[in-house]
Amino acid sequence: MFDLAIKSDRIITPEGEKSGIIIISEGIIIDIINSLDSGDERLIDVGEKVIMPGLIDPHVHINEPGRTEWEGFNTATKAALVGGLTTLVDMPLNSSPVTTTAKAFDEKLLAAKSKLHTNCGFWGGVIPGNENEIEPLVDKGVLGFKAFLTHSGIDEFPNVTEDDLRKAMPIIAKHNLPLLVHCELITNHKLKSTNDNRSYQNYLHSRPSKWEDDAIALMIRLCKQYNCHVHIVHLSSSNSFEQIVKAKQKGLPLTVETGQHYLYFNAEQIEDGQTQFKCAPPIREKENNDKLWQALKDGIIDFVATDHSPATPELKELKSGDFFKAWGGIASLQFALPVLWTAARKRNCSLNEITKWLCENPAKLIGRQKSKGKIANGYDADIIVWDEKRSFSVTEDIILHKNKITPYLNEKLFGVVEQTYLAGEKVFDSGKFLHLNKGKIILR
Ligand SMILES: [Zn+2]
Repeated sequence: MFDLAIKSDRIITPEGEKSGIIIISEGIIIDIINSLDSGDERLIDVGEKVIMPGLIDPHVHINEPGRTEWEGFNTATKAALVGGLTTLVDMPLNSSPVTTTAKAFDEKLLAAKSKLHTNCGFWGGVIPGNENEIEPLVDKGVLGFKAFLTHSGIDEFPNVTEDDLRKAMPIIAKHNLPLLVHCELITNHKLKSTNDNRSYQNYLHSRPSKWEDDAIALMIRLCKQYNCHVHIVHLSSSNSFEQIVKAKQKGLPLTVETGQHYLYFNAEQIEDGQTQFKCAPPIREKENNDKLWQALKDGIIDFVATDHSPATPELKELKSGDFFKAWGGIASLQFALPVLWTAARKRNCSLNEITKWLCENPAKLIGRQKSKGKIANGYDADIIVWDEKRSFSVTEDIILHKNKITPYLNEKLFGVVEQTYLAGEKVFDSGKFLHLNKGKIILR
């Protein structure tokens, strides 16, 4: 007995691309078979369109409750469905309150209620002095924790010191959860080389790779001491590969993500005043970014996550073009797949690599490696159908994020998501939402 069968010549499975029919029962993939009576009305044939697991993005700032003029559950999860993302994990900051207490987590869950169009989990936050909230947050079901080693941009979410981490990490390790860390440590105060705040070069040099490298060295030391899974978010500095490789070779529980924007753009192409490109750590030079690609292919970097972090046009300082005043964060959620694919196809990457970077490896970070991120028996039928040859231009009218500012505006991207399935239910088809509010809250 089954509910639905989806046929394609190009199913991306862990064993490679193959043709077949995915059999789904009660939201789960129960088999992949070769033939079925073509008259069966449960059968959907998508021909040569690619079938892949839905994307899992463990690094998204949804900003609700409290800063819903920046983004919100409704807009973010609709954009996600259109982009083929079936699971998001919300960061503990930019919302108000920040998710650093069990009480704040309750408020977060309440805010998300009946606004989830795709699945969503949550990270808790580690800030100075909240070590007594870590276990209550674990009990409530957060998937892990996030901390900053430099100012986060949000005053209610101050950065931690090594001493703070020494209090938090044994507790997080005890529960076998990951600690996600924004790795920039201000060890040299060079900051600005000129007073031109519109200059991208000036901004780039104000956040040197050494900040990242020093922070990562500290986190590797603490990862080893406490045997606590450390996940480095949005790695941008290629100078850190050596220490990361060494740590991984020693078997330390260390994982690394980078962001689409570090792989798609280069500093050389960013003009002065274009604050839509501002993020931290900054987008570095081509030479550095080419190395990020190699590290991704070599498995030094485990996966790619958007770090979708939108803000209002006023906060992005588009009028003044002041990189030092502008909010640091790039909005990109809806375009996670086509952005990565557009850059990856030029580098002869395979769809299996894309699946590893956007589905399979992020599933491991959130502890769902046995139920999400693969087209395989027993896995959740969170599935997308997409055309990797079709292209489109990013225009404001197609952007579903609450704010339309994005550095991808006017970019021509390859890869159009045609259908999105959540637990075997088709929720998005050819530009139309078929069912809303089908997203589930994912707790540990
Ligand atoms: Zn972030």
